[in-house]
Amino acid sequence: MSTLQFILENTTLDRTDARVILCHLIEKHFSWPRTALLSRNTEILNPFFIEEWRDLERRRLFGEPVAYLIGMRPFHAIELRVNPSVLIPRPETELLVDIALERINELRCKHPTKKIRLLDLGTGSGAIALALAHADPEIEIHATDISFEALKTAQENARYLNLYEQVEFHLGSWYEALDLSDTKQFDVILSNPPYIHPADPHLNQGDLRFEPVAALSDQVNGLNCIEVILKDCLQYLSPGGSIAIEHGFEQAASVSSLMAQNGLLAVHHFADLAGHPRVTSACSPTL
Ligand code: GLN
Repeated sequence: MSTLQFILENTTLDRTDARVILCHLIEKHFSWPRTALLSRNTEILNPFFIEEWRDLERRRLFGEPVAYLIGMRPFHAIELRVNPSVLIPRPETELLVDIALERINELRCKHPTKKIRLLDLGTGSGAIALALAHADPEIEIHATDISFEALKTAQENARYLNLYEQVEFHLGSWYEALDLSDTKQFDVILSNPPYIHPADPHLNQGDLRFEPVAALSDQVNGLNCIEVILKDCLQYLSPGGSIAIEHGFEQAASVSSLMAQNGLLAVHHFADLAGHPRVTSACSPTL
């Protein structure tokens, strides 16, 4: 087992997983581009490369997510460093980022000179906050997380993506993480909170077994964190501001009632590529 071609022909890993892991090793061990997977596939590899490949192949066969094995995950238009202290960012969450960009455009049209302030509750790897900072350098972004390790990862991502100046990170639970002396409201609030019911069998399957359970499930009923976020959101949203929350595919009706109960208006559902409503947005009343 000493060339890329040999490895690819003989591994029992899924082909895409094997290619992604090999590209990571090629970039790490050589100054070759990823295209070397094809163009240099008959060159003899060194023993360090082979040893590391064997280790990653074994761990992947055991079920560890590829994103944790290579320490990286593409998200929206950026690449994020990830580790087992953060949720692996998902394509569904890119929908939330796109909805936020639309809302921001609408707000800019109405108030062209206003600096837009945005809050990402439970930022994890920093996925939502950093994708938006990258997409729009004019937004002022605040991001919170209750996990010290997650916030450290988000801050590292901000530094590595050169977005550190634009995003302020706060450690703590939801709104409690915010600086009390800062009474300015937010124009957009976003969150992909833990929304999986603790009894959902998916928690014991696939990648989810390796992800931080606190990032996946509220350990109550799946709606608990969403309730907490919505209960206080009017206090933190500027008049006419927007909130958008990611949720499970069966939670859209509950989320819209919670939004209405908490005084929010113009509730909208957005579907993922499979057609399931996975993000719900609403607005705060204007004065
Ligand atoms: N906001 C992060 C993401 O969407 C983390 C979410 C979480 O940990 N529940 O990837």
